[in-house]
Amino acid sequence: MIEIKIKFLGGCGEIGKSAILVDDKIILDYGLQTAGDDPFPLMSDCDYLLISHGHLDHCGSAPLLRKTKNVFTTAPTADFTRLLLDDSIRLNNKKSGKNRHIYSTDDVDLLMSKLKTVCYNDEFKIDDYSCTFLDAGHIVGSSSILIKKDISLFYSSDTNSIDTKLIRGSNGFPGADVGIIESTYFGEDHTPRKELEDRFIKSIKETMEDGGSVIIPCFAINRTQEILSILGEHNISPYLDGMGIIATNIILNHPSFIKNSSLLKMSFNNASLVNRKIRKRIFDEPSIIVTTAGMANGGPVLNYLKKIYKDPKSKLMFTGYQVEGTNGRMILEKGLVKLNRNLVKIEATVEQYDFSSHSGDKELKSMVKRMADKGVNLFFTVHGEKEKSEAFAEYIKEEIGCKAIAPCTNDTYNISVA
Ligand SMILES: [Zn+2]
Repeated sequence: MIEIKIKFLGGCGEIGKSAILVDDKIILDYGLQTAGDDPFPLMSDCDYLLISHGHLDHCGSAPLLRKTKNVFTTAPTADFTRLLLDDSIRLNNKKSGKNRHIYSTDDVDLLMSKLKTVCYNDEFKIDDYSCTFLDAGHIVGSSSILIKKDISLFYSSDTNSIDTKLIRGSNGFPGADVGIIESTYFGEDHTPRKELEDRFIKSIKETMEDGGSVIIPCFAINRTQEILSILGEHNISPYLDGMGIIATNIILNHPSFIKNSSLLKMSFNNASLVNRKIRKRIFDEPSIIVTTAGMANGGPVLNYLKKIYKDPKSKLMFTGYQVEGTNGRMILEKGLVKLNRNLVKIEATVEQYDFSSHSGDKELKSMVKRMADKGVNLFFTVHGEKEKSEAFAEYIKEEIGCKAIAPCTNDTYNISVA
């Protein structure tokens, strides 16, 4: 009897702290839940850690795996992991009395010393397993991971099958016996990119013509560069502030991982990088500012908001989903934000644009169909709200005709083939 054992350590029925243990030996992602009171995945030891991409919900708890012998990931993900972990420690230290972190910079150093970078589509061996990282199309350097021994396992991680301005969509599926797939946007389709970009640019131009300013909150990694490239293509030169500057430099160091590095380079060169001197005079005249944090939950964006929130001619243009409990969500739902400890009403126009880096409903459905056609007969649906992961598993059972499970954290499955 050939068997593979899969234990879900986190990221089930939720978005955050993704972590999957395979055969008590290999962990796929070891993330952090940045919202809520339960930040870490279940504790476990493993010999090897494979990190799919540079988002905290996939790499944010990695330093806790101190006994791991080796860590594998792509070159951009290695750089993003360092950037995010250092930032996470810094933010935690700032929050006095709230010691959420149980790892230090030394732990991050140790993790980085074990890191080996791999290229897309190059099969490598760890013990008896063959592993391959495949382009997941989610963010720069993001990967789906294929692990083969007697039974093969494909972990989609976060994935996007459509092209965006910055990166190509995921391509091809190599075939496997078991699939673990994300369900973030099951049941929801995204606005087509071209339509979204046109609407976004039109709104910016109208605001400038009316004499208003525009604040564009963006995640540092990938979203900032996507927005910079779109603006650059339309000859719009914004100010750029926050961690997105470092992330852009990282991405420009890995040009082969993006679609059009000269467009990003040109757009970055045309942007005015904000320093203390410049920061004071922004908004002396109508300006566009691209800045962190993407959900307005800290970072320079709040300082800029203080300057424009009373101005009905100005706009705050969110570029992605705003999680429950964030400033961004409160602004969208109630038109209120906390500035200088006061809750204030935003009189500037607030807009939201769905520049998602995840597959929508249509793409997820077509992905499971392709996977089933190539041999997957058991699916696990993870990384989504509970109802979505369960609905996706139901869909796979009913429409694709394969076994599908929306697992819970701590569930273990021994999968065998005769
Ligand atoms: Zn992600």
